[in-house]
Amino acid sequence: MNFHLKSFQELRYLLDNHDVTAEELTEHFLDRIERIDPDIRSFVTVCRADALAQAKAAQERIDKGDIAPMTGIPVALKDNICTRGVRTTCSSKMLENFLPPYDATVTAALKRQGAVLLGKNNMDEFAMGASTVTSYFGVTKNPYDITRVPGGSSGGSAAAVSAGLCPASLGSDTGGSIRQPAAFCGVTGLKPTYGRVSRYGLVAFASSLDQIGPIAKSARDCAYLLDAITYDDGMDMTLAKDLKPLGDIFSGDIKGTRIGLPAEFFGEGVDPEVKEIVMKAALKYKEMGCEIVDVTLPSLKYAIAAYYLIASAEASSNLARYDGVKYGHRSERGDTFEEVLIHTRDEGFGDEVKRRILLGTYALSSGYFDAYYKKATLLREKIKKEYSDIFAKCDVILTPTTPAAAFKIGEKTDDPTQMYLADVCTVTVNIAGLPAVSTPCGYDKDGLPVGMSLVGKAFDEATILRLADRFEKRSERILNDYMLN
Ligand code: GLN
Repeated sequence: MNFHLKSFQELRYLLDNHDVTAEELTEHFLDRIERIDPDIRSFVTVCRADALAQAKAAQERIDKGDIAPMTGIPVALKDNICTRGVRTTCSSKMLENFLPPYDATVTAALKRQGAVLLGKNNMDEFAMGASTVTSYFGVTKNPYDITRVPGGSSGGSAAAVSAGLCPASLGSDTGGSIRQPAAFCGVTGLKPTYGRVSRYGLVAFASSLDQIGPIAKSARDCAYLLDAITYDDGMDMTLAKDLKPLGDIFSGDIKGTRIGLPAEFFGEGVDPEVKEIVMKAALKYKEMGCEIVDVTLPSLKYAIAAYYLIASAEASSNLARYDGVKYGHRSERGDTFEEVLIHTRDEGFGDEVKRRILLGTYALSSGYFDAYYKKATLLREKIKKEYSDIFAKCDVILTPTTPAAAFKIGEKTDDPTQMYLADVCTVTVNIAGLPAVSTPCGYDKDGLPVGMSLVGKAFDEATILRLADRFEKRSERILNDYMLN
């Protein structure tokens, strides 16, 4: 059976109907990982024994009729989401052997429902990057073309879903790390509103921007998984109060929805083919009865600068905890605490992480604080204001997810600014704390997927997911050979 082509709803049906057992389903995905992942390298850790034990327990629940939405369904997690007793590396030498003594809130929520955790997905080191090239464990390959990157930082999650190695995976998104790899790998990724999903147990990168969200085969599967992880255990004070599950959001009408197209996202630097494919998607929405509205986000030109200052400043503070004493790597070199600290951080962190720590520390140092960090926070307010002006005129915004389709492994690595510029379409959404979903909207001349992003008002995931679902229903998805085999 092609279980890897099935939606969550179909898997639920098959399990509840006893057409397949949770163990068989888990074996199906573990076997695929064993067969296909040597090509793709999307997993850092595969939890075969634990997964089979969880599947057995889930099957007992199903047999008793004690069934939650995720009971017996396998999923994977990005390797910056803590899993008790299962190493959580952030794809860094610093945490290569780190065994968290606790589960992240989202991990606990999935386990409570009886989900099966297949393993941990590769990523850019500490979620810094857009290619998985910065991973200590080596780059993940794009299932559509293994000479290309899968995107990042949640590249392992997106590649695993795209190759059919798991039905879905949770990623994290600080400046695009769910949406961009989803776009590169031809799958759907949702970055929820800031404050919708608890980040307790997510290894912090930039705390005012980080958000956990699903990467799956469709908007419907993203909604299914989002509901499964919407849980408040009181451990994340930034979580919104009284969150309700999305419930049935797909029956509503999309006619009359006002879709804003911000001119700046279709300007210079965006591949003409990408522009054309996304504009065609806008026309399709028009045919479905939506209204297209011209809007503008003039501060987009400052977005990369503002994002990299804010994110690096926060990262430099968050990563101060890796001192070789509390946990993680500790250098054998040095006699004093300070020497050991210096060697530990030198050996434990890769180049990109060091670059961000240096940039962030510099931007926060006295004398430069006003010139850089403060300016970036003023820009943040300006970007938020521009979004709220846009949302006075429309219900959602449509943009390309990336300026171009997946690039080659090795491209953009010599000059980090080239890599940073590729985040231009995604970072403002994090700066403003909004929800956005990326879904494939076409394929370029090389057959690579192109993604579009629908950005919603805060906490209105329902509207963007519904719109993405309608588009997915009306367009053909071209699956890669791994998924088909
Ligand atoms: N590519 C961006 C960066 O390198 C976004 C990363 C992320 O969202 N975690 O910072």
